[in-house]
Amino acid sequence: MAKKEAEQEDDGKNLKVSYLEKSPRKCPVCEQEFYNELMYTGGGRIIAGRLRNDLRRTYEVSKKYGKVNPLIYIVSVCPACFYAAYNEDFLEMDQSHRETALAEKPNRIKYAKVIFGRDIDFAKPRTLITGAASYFLAMTGYNYQRKNVFPTLKRAMCALRASWLLEDIAAIYPDQHFAELIPFFLTKSKKYYGRAIDFMQNGKETYEKVKTFGPDTDTNFRYDGVLYMFARLTASMSYLITDPKEKIDDLIKAKRSAAKIFGMGKSSKSKPQDLLDFSKELHTEIGNYIEELAKKFNITVEE
Ligand SMILES: [Zn+2]
Repeated sequence: MAKKEAEQEDDGKNLKVSYLEKSPRKCPVCEQEFYNELMYTGGGRIIAGRLRNDLRRTYEVSKKYGKVNPLIYIVSVCPACFYAAYNEDFLEMDQSHRETALAEKPNRIKYAKVIFGRDIDFAKPRTLITGAASYFLAMTGYNYQRKNVFPTLKRAMCALRASWLLEDIAAIYPDQHFAELIPFFLTKSKKYYGRAIDFMQNGKETYEKVKTFGPDTDTNFRYDGVLYMFARLTASMSYLITDPKEKIDDLIKAKRSAAKIFGMGKSSKSKPQDLLDFSKELHTEIGNYIEELAKKFNITVEE
């Protein structure tokens, strides 16, 4: 999009959802300059609805602005080489990975187009489809970031958010392949959340430069949100594991992770009630399922 176009007369500004940053960004991989698109905050552009049990915030449709999706403006993508990262991390790329990032350019463009369509264009205003693609690209973009931005957690959030946007896209285009992609992203997200928990414990990656743990854009559920999403995704994706013993072992890990959120005695008072309720429900749900599986396959469960 040309800069002039985006800087429409101020009269129109109040009805606009997004704007282009005043100064161009220079891609740290290919040095292309481009204007990054961000969402205006405030002005009733988004009306928060209920929080789903996968910690996704739903939004009511605004009469003035229509359906606004804040998720699609979070990732900055170079329109030339498709390198991507969250807005605040984009320019901070670790330059020691630049050559790799350049070498991987044809592949990331190829896969993004195979999955999201040949005509995706990051020089144009963000859409649901390029929004979902932006998270897919950021999942690899975080290979080029420093350990102190907690790249593994960011990948977990990106995969989860890609799955959320794919849900929205699939609702609009039910006859296309978008719904089929959701399990891929949820499986990736589960894997990265599991690793993120390990890395927080062993210090392999750190979080001093993490703005929010999300998982959605409206609330920072911190470490508890990480524990919860790992448990929630492990439970919801367990249908993909065929071996009952392996499935039970995985579910036991998920149950322990959920228990850590509300099992801390006094400290739980300061935690968001929604999250406490969800984690208790999930803990019970997983416990019942483990029992059912153990009975069905005659497996002794040692928790
Ligand atoms: Zn670039």
